[in-house]
Formats: sequence, C-alpha cells, structure tokens
Amino acid sequence: KVRIRSVRKCFGSVEVLKGISLDVPEGGVVCVVGPSGSGKSTLLRCVNRLETIDSGRIWVDGDLIGYAEQGDRIHHLRPAQLCRQRQDIGMVFQRFHLFPHRTALENVMEGPVVVKGVARGQARKRALELLERVDLADRADHYPAQLSGGQQQRVAIARSLAMDPKLMLFDEPTSALDPELVQEVLSVMRDLAASGMTMMVVTHEMGFAREVGDNLIFIDGGVIVEQGHPRDVLANPRHERFRAFLGQVL
Ligand code: ATP
Ligand code: MG
Repeated sequence: KVRIRSVRKCFGSVEVLKGISLDVPEGGVVCVVGPSGSGKSTLLRCVNRLETIDSGRIWVDGDLIGYAEQGDRIHHLRPAQLCRQRQDIGMVFQRFHLFPHRTALENVMEGPVVVKGVARGQARKRALELLERVDLADRADHYPAQLSGGQQQRVAIARSLAMDPKLMLFDEPTSALDPELVQEVLSVMRDLAASGMTMMVVTHEMGFAREVGDNLIFIDGGVIVEQGHPRDVLANPRHERFRAFLGQVL
C-alpha cells in the first residue's frame, strides 16, 4: 500500500532523511517515534509531497508520489496532478487548522464541495455521518472557538475522512491537547484503524502504539534505528538510543 524506498531529504546542506525505506501494508498502522528533530514530520510531509525528496521513491497505492512514469521516462507531476494525488492522502496535524469562521459541519463539507465538486446536499449528509462517527453529531453547528481542543481535532479527522483518503497521516495529533482530552482523539483513531484504514502515525503515545500499531519505527538522526511489532520492540528494545528514548517518554 505505502512503499518508501531509500528516501533522502536535505534542507540546505543538512541531510534530514538519510535513506528511509518502509512498507505499510493495506490496512496497516505504523507508529513513528523518535527524538525532536529526527525527521518524523519531514517523512510524513514527503509522503504527501508537502516536501520534495532529493532521492528515493514513494508509492501510495501504486502511484509514484510527485512523478509520472511513462515507460522508462519519469517526469514531475504538474501542480494540478499533484493536487489530485494529494486528495487521496489525509493529514492531521498537531494544530487543528480548522476554518475559524465555519461551523464543524461546514469545515467537514468544504473539501468535497470545493475540491471535488460534490453537491452540497450530498456533502452535508456525508459530513453529518462523519461527525457522528467521531462522536460530534451534537456539535455540528458549533464554531471551532466553541469546541474543546479534543473536539476540534476530531472535526479535523472527520474533515480529512470526507475526502475518502486511501491513507491517513497523523503528525502528533494529541501533543497539543490537555491530558484529559487525549483519549477521546486516540479512541477515534483506534476505531479508524479497526475499520481498516492505512495509517502512519507520529506519536509519543506508547500505549496507543502498543495497542493499535502493527509496526513501530524508531527514527533517530534521519535513519530508522529500530523497527518491529510494537509489543516486541517495546518489551525488548535492542539499541541503546532507543532504550534511552523510551526511558524519557514512558
Ligand atoms: P519534532 O519531534 O520536534 O516534531 P521531527 O522529528 O518531526 O521533530 P522534523 O520537523 O522532521 O523533525 O525536522 C527534522 C530536521 O529538519 C530538524 O533539524 C529541522 O530543524 C529541519 N527542518 C525541518 N523543516 C525544515 C525546513 N523547512 N527548512 C529547514 N530545515 C528544516
Ligand atoms: Mg515533528
């Protein structure tokens, strides 16, 4: 489903990703952990082409991200084609980035109506279903400022799902939340994983990783230092750097 091969990414003279290879099978959930500045966000941003890569290849559902292949030739996608590719990949950030002057319902409807040209009535019906799914049916007409952080993040998840993504990327979706609001967001993500969504999740929530993740990767200094089934690697961390990291977050 997601195939990442030898991805390198530099910012100026600093190499931030130093050859990352990773597979996420259909319906798989990979949790990405690592110290600050290790390249976790950059990796996710490369997957949906918010960043270009310097070398390597990324495929999502067989589509080569950022490029079109024609026989032996390969060329950059044009912006419109890139947009279309990106529509299939949902991303949820630490900060929710909702439109402040739109209600929860309008936030969820916006993408399908504006980007995909879905009729408003149909988009509204689907948006209500999605708000139901994230347990916010009773908040449809609230504006972001009238919602808690956890509720805003759940609206952000519903908004991503409204585009029918093949893949969902989460970049520390609970890090900006008060502790008592973390679980309601993780619970929505757990349901989403159970429904078969393919997910890449940057998180420091080791409980979530252990319970929901099929694969845990520890990135440090732009390389994958350790990976495996969360239960195995958390019970038996092999690398000293990973052990030290776990000592800090657990
Ligand atoms: P954190 O846990 O703090 O979110 P991270 O693992 O997500 O860290 P990245 O945001 O991927 O780390 O950043 C990796 C490195 O790349 C850092 O040294 C960062 O300063 C650098 N970096 C990220 N984005 C840019 C940019 N647009 N221009 C220059 N350097 C950048
Ligand atoms: Mg980050």
